[in-house]
Amino acid sequence: MNLTQGRARIATSIAERLHQNGHTAYFAGGCVRDQIMNREAHDFDIATTATPDIVEKIFPKVVPVGRQFGVMIVVEEGIPFEVATFRSEAAYLDGRHPSKVIFSRPEEDARRRDFTVNGLFYDPFARKVVDFVGGQEDIQRKVIRAIGHPEERFEEDKLRLLRAIRFSANLGFEIEEKTWKSLKAHAAKITQVSPERIREELVKIFTRPGAGNGFLLLSESGLMKEVLPEIEAMKGVQQQPDFHPEGDVFIHTKMLLDRLQHPSATLALSALLHDVGKPKTFAVREGKITFYEHAPLGAAMAREILKRLRFSNQETDSICESVANHMKFADVQRMRSGKLKQFVSRPNFQEELELHKVDCQSSHGMLDHYEFLKKKLVEFAHEDLKPKPLVNGNDLIALGMKPGPAMKPLLEEIYELQLEGKFKSQEEALRWVRGRLESPPKV
Ligand code: ATP
Ligand code: MG
Repeated sequence: MNLTQGRARIATSIAERLHQNGHTAYFAGGCVRDQIMNREAHDFDIATTATPDIVEKIFPKVVPVGRQFGVMIVVEEGIPFEVATFRSEAAYLDGRHPSKVIFSRPEEDARRRDFTVNGLFYDPFARKVVDFVGGQEDIQRKVIRAIGHPEERFEEDKLRLLRAIRFSANLGFEIEEKTWKSLKAHAAKITQVSPERIREELVKIFTRPGAGNGFLLLSESGLMKEVLPEIEAMKGVQQQPDFHPEGDVFIHTKMLLDRLQHPSATLALSALLHDVGKPKTFAVREGKITFYEHAPLGAAMAREILKRLRFSNQETDSICESVANHMKFADVQRMRSGKLKQFVSRPNFQEELELHKVDCQSSHGMLDHYEFLKKKLVEFAHEDLKPKPLVNGNDLIALGMKPGPAMKPLLEEIYELQLEGKFKSQEEALRWVRGRLESPPKV
């Protein structure tokens, strides 16, 4: 294990100071697993015999995030490190949290953890892995196995149901048979977990490598129908084979998730939800499978789902905009340049473009709209795509138009023409408006 760089170096120095004060201090959990697997760890957590009061005395900057559970944050070089007292947990009462914790020995602390691969310690002084739960062997075998009895462990904390899927998908490990059986038997109880925690796990599953597998495992375990029944409903929904040689809507969605590389949460969720309106709009017309208006319906359904999972308003708006617009990409080559400039200069456009690309790659494979847009973006690069409008509402009133709802579409039309380069100056624009007001188009 290389302890000389980055977070590992700082974590080592934190452990060193605890050691100098007479305490045992190990790296714990995910970082040990990741180091053994030669993967970059997300965070280095430290487990120690020192209690919170002692941790507070030793380090200059400490945040007591969970003092009664023995969990403190030590901030070094601006980076937060979790420093937690070895503990065991008393009975779980609410399906998620222990009623109290008891400070204890390393072995008990290892046994309260969820899966063997997450139950390892590393002693940075002896430079040795400390393994009370057979975690090293399971890493070699590529297995996710509950520590102790899976029934009891899932019963204690239902979030572990989702965590098992997450680690299996992300590490590419099989879930061991008894753990898997028990996971399936407990799946319906996931609803006891708060929507916020469910959301956090789902986001990790869908944004990290292995997302497509996580998607399949969620469904196979029975968790999908509890947390995302609208996605489960995509299973078996057939699509037109010439456009979708890959298969049904469910498989298509899985393929998008697999193609994304380190996506943002909003992009991953847009991929997950882009066709969520298809099951309800499925219809065979003249021998062809169609999904009329599935994008706007999908956006409305996405809004409900994201609200249920307590996504922020900003994330929800972005994802829903992507879902609502994903079929408009088929029209880009026919759009007038004014419309196109407005379409591509929206803040959400880059994510939509990425979504469009993986959508095509995961079905018919044709990227002509994508290539066209890439070319246009280069062409537009030196243009101000959002110039100040040459004509506003006051100008229209000054030209004799009555204030009212007819003004908005006219202003939009003028702005589009401005973007198309029809007017060289405000005078030209006003002249055009005058003409238009004198002889409106016949409808
Ligand atoms: P990541 O790479 O995603 O950070 P991780 O293994 O570090 O993965 P965390 O959620 O950061 O996972 O938790 C740190 C450690 O705390 C885990 O490795 C595990 O030992 C323990 N742990 C976390 N959540 C639970 C839980 N719900 N039940 C039991 N142990 C848990
Ligand atoms: Mg972690």
